[in-house]
Amino acid sequence: MGNRLKDRLIRQIRLDGPIPMSLFMQICLHDPVDGYYATRPGLGSDFTTAPELSQTFGELIGAWVAHEWQSMGKPAPFALIEYGPGRARLMSDALRILNHTPAGEALRLHLVEASPALRAVQTETLAHASPVFLDGPERLPDMPTMIVANEFLDCLPARQFAHDGDHWRERLVGLGREGTLTLGLDANDALTAPHDLNASPSTTLAEVQPGLNTLVDALAAHSKRGTLMRVLLVDYGTMDTAPSDTLRAYKAGKQVDPFAAPGEADLTVDVDFGRLKRLAMTAGLSVAGPVPQGAFLGALGLQTRLDRLIRAAPDKADDLFVGAQRLVAPSEMGERFKAICLSSPGLPDPAGFPARAG
Ligand code: SAH
Repeated sequence: MGNRLKDRLIRQIRLDGPIPMSLFMQICLHDPVDGYYATRPGLGSDFTTAPELSQTFGELIGAWVAHEWQSMGKPAPFALIEYGPGRARLMSDALRILNHTPAGEALRLHLVEASPALRAVQTETLAHASPVFLDGPERLPDMPTMIVANEFLDCLPARQFAHDGDHWRERLVGLGREGTLTLGLDANDALTAPHDLNASPSTTLAEVQPGLNTLVDALAAHSKRGTLMRVLLVDYGTMDTAPSDTLRAYKAGKQVDPFAAPGEADLTVDVDFGRLKRLAMTAGLSVAGPVPQGAFLGALGLQTRLDRLIRAAPDKADDLFVGAQRLVAPSEMGERFKAICLSSPGLPDPAGFPARAG
């Protein structure tokens, strides 16, 4: 069977010229007819994430939300927002904890989800919390706000730039000799190579997610309106330099060529946490982290939580242990994944992050 989106992209590029990688990602993921989110429920095994490996992940985030709500002065009501809830495992586990705390009464659940099929799953799974869907991550309700997101930022489209010694040039998706989709260098110097590219001097390739700017701007505007806000973002990415060449496609649990079957595979890039932090601080937000996921979950009491779960269900001890271990082991998700917290200014340091110096 042919791939309609691929044919459309080839035709568009033939008529209109090569396109930035970010536009390619945007079309593959979000085309309303043939895009990944429109056509793939994402319910199979295209991705497996931390909350699906271990219930401790969502539970610890639930406890974190309850704790931070207290340190924000127990605003009631407040908006608990999740970006990209997937199959809603994180939020189900978090609410189980939250509902035993006073924050459970005060929270109004809001979700941001691009996939209609996943929205249906979330509506059903989280029905007890009557979730309200927001139009996008920038459309925030006028209430004290706590946002959580796991593996959301890595879906934001990225542009790629290559340095030839003198200039940055953008890598564009164009047509190869056989008329297939392929990455090539723009013939011209990049007119809009971001001046804040976080590339190390030896780097010749650097990625930028413009969506991070848009998101930070919206969060900063929300905070500047006087809204109390805490945002916890967990994802994979780099801390010190920009990611270089990280576009990956996943289909049915396997990594595939991103250009082979557009719209049929989930696309992802590494997140530039260093850049995110600089953008947020420049916009006037307080930033804690990034810290490695292993350290973050350890500081939130993963071991204690795990011990308790194992005591309650000794027959499941092995599975519980293995799942939790994968979240924190440096060889698995413990180092590659990072947590960062952006807040409106003036709040105490958030739990799970080392206290800021000075
Ligand atoms: N947080 C979940 C799912 C991660 S997959 C988990 O940890 O298991 C990424 C999620 O973000 C999916 O639910 C996907 O549909 C959603 N998503 C990706 N880009 C989006 C966008 N621009 N707007 C809204 N939702 C988006």
